[in-house]
Amino acid sequence: MTKGESGTRMPVLFAGHGNPMNAILDNKWSQGFRRLGDLVPRPKAILAVSAHWYVPGTYLMGNHDPKTIHDFGGFPRELYEVQYPAPGYPGLAENASHLLAPWKASVRSDWGLDHGTWSVLRHMYPKADIPIVQLSIDGHAPIEAHYEIGQALAPLRDQGVLIVGSGNLVHNLRSAFAKMRAGVNTRESWATEFDERTVSHLQNRDRAGLEQAVATTTGRLAHPSPDHYIPILYAAGAAGRDADVSFPVEGFDMGDISMRTVLFT
Ligand code: ZN
Repeated sequence: MTKGESGTRMPVLFAGHGNPMNAILDNKWSQGFRRLGDLVPRPKAILAVSAHWYVPGTYLMGNHDPKTIHDFGGFPRELYEVQYPAPGYPGLAENASHLLAPWKASVRSDWGLDHGTWSVLRHMYPKADIPIVQLSIDGHAPIEAHYEIGQALAPLRDQGVLIVGSGNLVHNLRSAFAKMRAGVNTRESWATEFDERTVSHLQNRDRAGLEQAVATTTGRLAHPSPDHYIPILYAAGAAGRDADVSFPVEGFDMGDISMRTVLFT
């Protein structure tokens, strides 16, 4: 049994965030994010690894009052007006940077909360009252590093910290936009195949399978760029091999975008 602020080990979450519009729409995805808030014990703080902070290096966001970053283009004004004023937690950023010293992690204050984080959390925690620290994804790191960084962060779970990876288990925007333009919502066989294969790697605690997946032929179709896949490696690493795995949200949006959410308890 996990409890939040009482100090017992927190679960780990991977959320499929998908279309930024899910932040303001009432649809099956945003309803799914809302349910996650009830499924997970209330955390003392959140450490979020978003696909949208994909940079050369491992950094922790150390801001007291992180800004809401609208890191997308061509959406309605309403989406740009969304603010998610959750506080930062510089002490947690500092603590995490020590845990990640082998990866030369450092704290910086020129980032905030990107939509990979707030489009999900504004439904999970609408009051924006839980402090958040974002961790970047080092796009230059070898694939094994992401799982290892997740493992190194695991002790934070015992301090009431919810570790959240935010990406999508299948994410090929070129295919999704082509379908949107054509007005079709069909799904390619590689999308189903990659999503199902990832489920089986997760259920079998197959770390090597998870790490090698994006380099396969199907993996390159599912992820022309690995940024939306890599957050699952942090989550799986932080969860460890003993965690139970469940999928509180499943399904595809825009044809080929897997919206699967993974809960490790
Ligand atoms: Zn995204």
